[in-house]
Amino acid sequence: MGHKSWLGLILLLFTTLSTGGIALADGETPPARDPKQPIDEAYTAKIRKYTTAPYFSSPLVDYLPASKSVPTPAVVLGDVAGAPGILPYAEDVYKYMRLLENATPRVKVVSIGTTEEGREMIAVAVSSEANLKNLEQNHQRLAKLADPRTIHLDDAEADKLVAESVPVYYITGTIHSPETGAPTALMELAYRLAVDESPYVRDIRDGVITLITPVVEVDGRDRMVDLYRWHLAHPKDFYPPLIYWGKYVAHDNNRDAMAMTLKLTQNVLNTYLGWNAQVLHDLHESVPYLYDNTVGDGPYNAWVDPILVDEWQMIGARNVADLTRFGMPGVFTHGDFDTWSPGYLMFLAAMHNGISRLYETFGNAGADTRERTLQPDEYARTWYRPNPPFPKTLWSQRNNNNYEETGLLTSLHFFNENKRLFLKNFYLKGKRSIQKPSAEGPSAYILPADDPRASVQADLLRIMFKQHVEISRATGSFQVSLPVRKEKKSGKSPDTEEKPKPAAPTTRDFPAGSYVIRMDQPYSRVADALLDYQYWSPEDPQTTPYDDTAWTFGELFGVQVTRVTDPKVLSVPMERVTELRPFGGVQGEGSIFAINNHAEPALASLRYRLKDASIDAAEEPFQSGDNKFSRGTFLIHGVGRSDLDAATKSLGLHAVALPTAPNVKTHSVRAPRIAYVHTWISTQSEGWWRLALDNLQIPYDYMSTQAIAKIPDLNAKYDVILFPPVSGNASANAIVQGTPTTWGNPLPWTNTPETPNLVGKNDSTSDMRPGLGWDGVAKLQTFVRNGGVLLTATDTSQFAVAIGLAGGVTFSNSEKMKIVGSVVGTRLVDAASPIAYGYEEKVSAYCDDGTIFSVTSILGARRRHLGPEMKSRPTGRGTKDDPDFVVGRPASEIPDEPEKELWEAPQPTDDQSFNNPRVIPSVNRARVILRYADSKDLLISGLVENGNEIAQHPAVLDVPSGSGHVVLFSINPVYRGETENTYSLVLNTLLNFDSLNVGRKDTGQK
Ligand SMILES: [Zn+2]
Repeated sequence: MGHKSWLGLILLLFTTLSTGGIALADGETPPARDPKQPIDEAYTAKIRKYTTAPYFSSPLVDYLPASKSVPTPAVVLGDVAGAPGILPYAEDVYKYMRLLENATPRVKVVSIGTTEEGREMIAVAVSSEANLKNLEQNHQRLAKLADPRTIHLDDAEADKLVAESVPVYYITGTIHSPETGAPTALMELAYRLAVDESPYVRDIRDGVITLITPVVEVDGRDRMVDLYRWHLAHPKDFYPPLIYWGKYVAHDNNRDAMAMTLKLTQNVLNTYLGWNAQVLHDLHESVPYLYDNTVGDGPYNAWVDPILVDEWQMIGARNVADLTRFGMPGVFTHGDFDTWSPGYLMFLAAMHNGISRLYETFGNAGADTRERTLQPDEYARTWYRPNPPFPKTLWSQRNNNNYEETGLLTSLHFFNENKRLFLKNFYLKGKRSIQKPSAEGPSAYILPADDPRASVQADLLRIMFKQHVEISRATGSFQVSLPVRKEKKSGKSPDTEEKPKPAAPTTRDFPAGSYVIRMDQPYSRVADALLDYQYWSPEDPQTTPYDDTAWTFGELFGVQVTRVTDPKVLSVPMERVTELRPFGGVQGEGSIFAINNHAEPALASLRYRLKDASIDAAEEPFQSGDNKFSRGTFLIHGVGRSDLDAATKSLGLHAVALPTAPNVKTHSVRAPRIAYVHTWISTQSEGWWRLALDNLQIPYDYMSTQAIAKIPDLNAKYDVILFPPVSGNASANAIVQGTPTTWGNPLPWTNTPETPNLVGKNDSTSDMRPGLGWDGVAKLQTFVRNGGVLLTATDTSQFAVAIGLAGGVTFSNSEKMKIVGSVVGTRLVDAASPIAYGYEEKVSAYCDDGTIFSVTSILGARRRHLGPEMKSRPTGRGTKDDPDFVVGRPASEIPDEPEKELWEAPQPTDDQSFNNPRVIPSVNRARVILRYADSKDLLISGLVENGNEIAQHPAVLDVPSGSGHVVLFSINPVYRGETENTYSLVLNTLLNFDSLNVGRKDTGQK
């Protein structure tokens, strides 16, 4: 471009900006109101009043068209959308949407399910009368495009359907409850789409079905509105932070798209697929002023179709361009969000042949208009943000609503302009999913019928059903050929080279009834992504992964999953299964029943369900007839066969009746009374534990650190105290002290007239600030000393060590290690411990920079060797292996350091033991149940960098303390519904709480 044309462009920009319009391309519909349609003067005046600067608005939203028959959001809100001081409850948002539905044939409201606390979720469809009248026919067409098998992958037929179909664009609001702006923006958006007669909005209305779920996290929304009302009633006070969002989890509700444990995820996916939508656009608020992270940053998820990647680029770039042309500052894409993990709600679309999108706009966590001061990195001009936000500005909820609505309207318009392309892509992505076996592969995943962990396999298959993945079952046995792995030449010296491994088998047999997840189906992509392995290179230019780097479900569930590339597997005779047949129950004859222990969480459910039965655990493996039973096998008596049959069938457990009791040492397996402790700092991580226990129907008393400190005699009421992770990195000090109470006001978490929804069935307190306190610390110490069991993980384990409850255990911080939500290998160290019952030698676990524990034999000492570690002998006489000498005195030998592994406590030397009351007697030393694998075996899936820092260190420890135990986890065994493989490490601790010393080599029994 020459000098003159630059000048011309600048002049042109200047002119158009000063007249408030924008330059249009030929044939482009102007983004402007219809001058013939009257505006709602009062409403429009308020919009302008609440917008803090004209450039925080756009010609699409700086007015409201008037309607004689359709009510504006003001009828419910009492003011305009985004007005200061007004946050509607979900119920009010629904009320408005239903008023719209009654007032115009252009709006239709449907119920899409309920939340964990029973609140309704809705979806609102807005489109032309004709489109809504012909919903069913349109749905039939979209369904064919969604499943190209129905039209035999016929592109010509697809083109016909594309030409006739109206696409569906699905928008979801406020999944994150403190991000409060979306519901009012979406109320007003629905009104505009239904009422506005401008050509721009008419294009959208006639061309697209806009589907809106205005509130995704309904339970959390109502709590957040409560808090805001409390704030309005106590304007000078600090108001409580939103510690509970949904019943179980907070921010992680947007990390549930893999295991789909939460109702909101299930309801949104069912709606998204039920409507055959093309886009899922999720609204968030954190980054100023509009970060369209549709494009994001690398690495991109390896399983998405490159067609989608192109769509992201196209949509993101154009969306930024549109808002930039309006002169709205701080709109950008790219940014630091990588698109690796498929755990985000919006990613349901990416994994189901749609388009995932996410906005971060700028919210004020409430409806106050506030002065906002940004961090330098937030207002810095970067290559992807040439028009950054202001360092400091007055910001209102209305501004936020302007950005959200403008972004959405321009998105919808662009989507409509290109809908034939996007619909064709929708079809193509489905077609390419079906063609996966002959394209990139694999052909199928197989879950064998003889997996010993049948109940866990069933749980994994149920997740696949929730993901709308088709599952088949082989009607006979079959064989597949396996890919031959090329041995990589190792760079090691010949000295250390391992012996050549025996050749891997080239075929594998599977029994009849094995589950086959075929990859020639429309949603093969999500099954492939969840069941495959991930590798995140330590050299990746992205140095801060946004979330977990791995999720390999076969490993995290501990079930066998075989990836099969051989296309012949697809011709194996098989039948579709739409639900799992009941399995389990009692077989054989006899009066004593045995259930083999494969670390299935259902065993714990059974123990609680059969309250009156007597259940013993075998302390050693045994055989009865042809049946081999492992350590920890349940031996059940005192229950009728039919009762046991019913219970085991409903839990998917196999019981075998034995003619005689086996000759094996046993102890009783009892259902402990559990105190379940949470803090008032965060309930995010513990929520997943709570959810797992509730699903397993294991009862517990849920209480805060404050409450447990007030119980006079913990041992009289409880056998086990479960203290799940707080946030992964809460300090012991924070757990004990809580939030400062020397200034400020109490932060109540109770139901009041302003806060009727706060408590629900969770916990309450008159002041969230105090922590466990020193009284609470003393109570925990007494509880353990008197024989109780305290179970902790990650940060609560560090807390237990810090307050001296786990003598002989130390922890250190990592220096260069980077394990970011990865799947790592661990190894069983002490298979005789009841905590290890049912596990094989290798256990895959979820790890996020786990705590690096060491055990010592001297209290207060760090694990150390006799001297500094010498890699080789010092300089002196002789050869490398010869002893040195000192001239003029007899030779002396350096005493051999007793061989100890890294996870073991070093034996104290004579000198260290001399008159040293701090030496821990061996019976009191920590017992290592699981350790991290050796460095080379640590990485199973994801990112492990400098894993040598944690390799071989203890992963699960049983520390005798007084007459009780503290069981410490370095890994997080219960996480996001994705880690069923490690649940039983926790459940075994519960069920064997009074027999944890069983199998200890140095103490004998108990
Ligand atoms: Zn968010």
